[in-house]
Amino acid sequence: MGCTSGGLIDERVILLFKNMDITGDDEHVVFFSDDNIAAICSTETGNEKNLGRKTSLGLSRKGVFIGGLDHHVDYEPISDGNQNKISLAYMTVLREAESFDDAYRLLRLLFEHEKIGVPDMLILSGAIKDGFVISVVEYDPTAPQKWGVKKVDKGHLVATNYPLTLPNPSLRENDPDSYIRLETAHALLTSDPSLQGIQNLLRSHENGPGQKSICRHREWIPQDDRTRYHKGMYNTAASVIFQIDRLTGEITARYIVKKNPCEQDQYDVKHLWGMNF
Ligand SMILES: [Zn+2]
Repeated sequence: MGCTSGGLIDERVILLFKNMDITGDDEHVVFFSDDNIAAICSTETGNEKNLGRKTSLGLSRKGVFIGGLDHHVDYEPISDGNQNKISLAYMTVLREAESFDDAYRLLRLLFEHEKIGVPDMLILSGAIKDGFVISVVEYDPTAPQKWGVKKVDKGHLVATNYPLTLPNPSLRENDPDSYIRLETAHALLTSDPSLQGIQNLLRSHENGPGQKSICRHREWIPQDDRTRYHKGMYNTAASVIFQIDRLTGEITARYIVKKNPCEQDQYDVKHLWGMNF
């Protein structure tokens, strides 16, 4: 999964966001919420009940946020077994963690205990008792460092499948799209660090529309005698922003688009917890 995820902290609000980019016709996005968590999963078409299969975004009522980014370029393809373990770890963290420190500790424990053998990276944010931290957390089972964490408690942090703490020298060559998206995202958030700025970022077509833009579109490639897309190409299937009141820790709004965000003038706004996501 190739995605863009991040967060912004100012004096009044915390904004946490993610574009969910998926490949192929055989998977689609499922929205899910109960009294304690709201999550988005991608799932095989026809297998919608298996909600935990590829959980890649979630927010708990306690303010713990995960925006998964699947940093696995340059390694073996991610297997279903590993993907299931990652999804289960994410869901466990969302259900059980009380704070950022708690979430990070639990995440490490689960990844190491379950012997997850592929790299992963995610945006992880904690609850109000941490004073709200937004972090990018990176895990590489092949590297001596293994875990890398970069945190901010003011301003913004954004990630696009390109590692920020565990550099991989060959990645910029092998995955230039993620690097280009990272530079775009950082520049746009720096120029307009606001809710509107995040919406503009998530629907940005700079360097696109295509694989290099934040709002991603499959690029159609002629194959044989017909035109069809290449299976490995990403398309943004959903876009979500969560807004949290910095003083009270309450989640005050969810801004959602259930397709490419460029195709809708405004995000749908949902205020109440437990509403149909
Ligand atoms: Zn678009």
